[in-house]
This record gives sequence, structure tokens and C-alpha cells, in this order.
Amino acid sequence: MTEHAHDPDDRDDPEHEDELEEPTREELEAAAERSARKQIALAQIRQYGDPVLRMRAAEITAVDDEVRELADRMLQVMHDADGIGLAATQVGILRRFFVCTVAGEDRVVVNPVIAKAAKKVETDEEGCLSLGSVRMPVERPVEVTLEGLDRDGNPLSLELEGLDARVVQHELDHLDGMLIVDRTDPESRREALRRLRPRLALR
Ligand code: ZN
Ligand code: ZN
Repeated sequence: MTEHAHDPDDRDDPEHEDELEEPTREELEAAAERSARKQIALAQIRQYGDPVLRMRAAEITAVDDEVRELADRMLQVMHDADGIGLAATQVGILRRFFVCTVAGEDRVVVNPVIAKAAKKVETDEEGCLSLGSVRMPVERPVEVTLEGLDRDGNPLSLELEGLDARVVQHELDHLDGMLIVDRTDPESRREALRRLRPRLALR
């Protein structure tokens, strides 16, 4: 797959005569910085085997500055780690909120509940920032209505479908101590655990 289409006006553009050349020093530095930020972000995320990932998070009584600051930091960690969702549980905070990017927008959702879920389900591969590169198929309702409070403590209701619906269900599971290994089929679970267990021995 080509990176982008070339229009004819590009031909005299000196920048395009050397597309096969090595990346520039600036490009290499930017890539190295992104990679370093990703490692730092991942180091802040609890990994499979950490007992906190199995605990139920507690309801939040007030959306205050502390929650907002935590949420903003989590959004930064999520972006640095190339993720689209991150639950407070994953950074060791047992309070019911998560951050995510749905419909192209960054969201903070406090005390989330699935108010409505479609009967129709769909199976798709999911990964998790707490499970390294291990991915597995998970069946979920294709549409959900998510309710909770937003970053300012105002009521929020989101009708989501497809990947967006999947992301919020995955993050809500984290707040209940549930992981995708609990939701996948038995064979995929065995395969995932086979890949995850050696990591435990190294901790
Ligand atoms: Zn080009
Ligand atoms: Zn996850």
C-alpha cells in the first residue's frame, strides 16, 4: 500500500525526488522520542498478574479537581502508549472512571454504566495495554448506550456502536476486575495464558 497519492504537481518538488533516501535526522529523532514516551507510558500501566487488575473499583462520590487531574494524566499516558482506552484500575487507582477516544473525541467517563445493549453481538480481536501484545477474540454487543458523568460531573449519555461500543465495554470491565482473557473462548484463553504466564515468572 502506498503512503499517499502523488499528484502531478509533485514532480518538480525537490522533496519528492529522494523518497527512497534514508529518513532524516529529525524523523529519526522524532521516532526515538515517540518510542521513549511509549516505554515510559507502558511502565506506568499495571500488567497482567498484578492483583489490582482483579479488584472492583469504587464509585466516585464527587468529580473534583483530583479526579480531573488523574484523568488528564491518564489521557496523556493512553496517547503515549498508542491506546484508545485506559481505566483507572490500570494505573493502580481503584476508582470508577476511565478515559477513551470514541467518535474521534477524548472522553472522561465517571461511574460508567451500560444503560442499554443491543441483542446483536459481534466477535472481534481485542488487545489490552495491560496484556502486552497478546490479542484475542471477544464477543460483545454491537451497540450500547453508556451513561455516567463527564469530566465536569455533568450527566453523560453516549450511544455507541462498533469499535467505540467495544472500547467502553472493555474499559468498564476493568473497573469490575474483568479482563479479556475472561471473555474470550476457551481455546484462545489457553493460548493467551500460555503467552502471558512466562512473563509472570520474570517479574
Ligand atoms: Zn510524496
Ligand atoms: Zn484493557
